[in-house]
Amino acid sequence: MEGIPLFMKYELPDVYKEFWDGLKKGEILGTKCKKCGKIYFPPQKDCTNCMTTDLEWVKLSKEGTIMTYSIVKQKPQGFENFQDYIIAIVRNSDDVDLMCWLLDKNPRVNEKVKLTSDGKRILCEGEQK
Ligand SMILES: [Zn+2]
Repeated sequence: MEGIPLFMKYELPDVYKEFWDGLKKGEILGTKCKKCGKIYFPPQKDCTNCMTTDLEWVKLSKEGTIMTYSIVKQKPQGFENFQDYIIAIVRNSDDVDLMCWLLDKNPRVNEKVKLTSDGKRILCEGEQK
């Protein structure tokens, strides 16, 4: 017995369309409050800091530092056939934490990385020697 198939389907809210379009162009987008300047990632439509809805899309910095990472051996549904992969939390120079697919095999905490996109995911890669 190979287990019971489990399927989950849902629609993402509109607020993410810009974000996905950005990834296709290699940009990582967040939203920024025009009043207080707080940056939201994942993007939000409302500023919970000053209670306004006056937010704009901004390109986030692609320079970051690995804060922590996990090697994924037990993969979620749809990723069963992937090799083990590494998911990192990277803090970029806007001070925003992003979850990224790490391309390096031997990452280190505090390592500097560059953020990129393959059109679907945020990727990151260090300057490995
Ligand atoms: Zn605000």
